[in-house]
Amino acid sequence: ASKDSGRGRSSFYDPRMDDERELRNQLELDLRAAIQAGEISVVYQPIVDAHSFDLVSVEALARWTRRGHGPVSPDVFIPIAEASGLIDRLGLCVLEMALRQLQRWPGVRLSVNISPGQFRDPAFVERVEALFVDANIEPYRVTLEMTETYFIQNAERAKAALDRLRKIGVKIALDDFGVGFSSVGYLRQFGFDRMKIDRSLIQALSEGHRAIEMLQATVALARSLNIPVTAEGVETEQQAVILRLAGCDQLQGYLFGRPSVPADIDAYRARSMLPRAKAAEMAFAAHRRDGL
Ligand code: C2E
Ligand code: MG
Ligand code: MG
Ligand code: MG
Repeated sequence: ASKDSGRGRSSFYDPRMDDERELRNQLELDLRAAIQAGEISVVYQPIVDAHSFDLVSVEALARWTRRGHGPVSPDVFIPIAEASGLIDRLGLCVLEMALRQLQRWPGVRLSVNISPGQFRDPAFVERVEALFVDANIEPYRVTLEMTETYFIQNAERAKAALDRLRKIGVKIALDDFGVGFSSVGYLRQFGFDRMKIDRSLIQALSEGHRAIEMLQATVALARSLNIPVTAEGVETEQQAVILRLAGCDQLQGYLFGRPSVPADIDAYRARSMLPRAKAAEMAFAAHRRDGL
């Protein structure tokens, strides 16, 4: 906004900012209406065992198609939901739909993302518990994913909240590991059940040996704390090879499947292996033969 101030304009007025604010307001209103009308849907991305490539779990991801406009990215509407308090309703909605879906997928586990703001609702943990009872889902089948911001900002409150969630029996994963200030200290302190390595670290793998060593060190760190590791954003067979050798026990990414409607997950379940997993399996065979 202050770009033009050197030319004598007030730094407080920028018509572009008005436009942006207006768009945000409109998005917030539309999102509120969409949540009320039940127009938020959930897609599921396969997570596979790094050794057998069997489907072991799915991550529930929220989707919103804005009336008269088209799909809006979660990277846009989740922050709006967080800033406006809509995340409470939205988050519980997603969890409720995903738990109901999980009833139809025996043997599969589920991950659901949770925003820190959802803990502001003093009844949050009870509401979560009620959803499990209603859906008749054993809590150990479900992992709640959270990013580190919350743990760093309010360590004590976060610890208390996590302990209450753990009492229900759900598992807690640290999402997007490797993008922030991640320190060994809080990894130990919170005793996460799983770590998810951010896809930026995996995408960097093509940049060479430094990136591979960084990744290996990160996975080794988690494993030394007995935290199993999922790699996110796996797109190529070569990445899958590196990640499995580094010690990741679960892989997630477009190589195995995009976030999909439940019918696609039904189809994956019907086969013993995901379609693209065959290619990864062959890459391992080649690796054993020729090295990387
Ligand atoms: P996330 O929890 O880290 O989810 C993984 C994101 O990576 C998803 O983006 C997924 O579509 C994308 N992804 C997975 N594999 C690949 C790959 O191989 N390549 C690429 N390029 N991307 C891949 P999505 O669905 O757009 O969601 C973005 C973020 O929005 C999520 O990141 C999560 O932080 C947030 N989000 C989505 N749904 C919810 C929700 O229900 N509640 C909350 N609180 N946050 C949500
Ligand atoms: Mg996630
Ligand atoms: Mg993530
Ligand atoms: Mg993320």
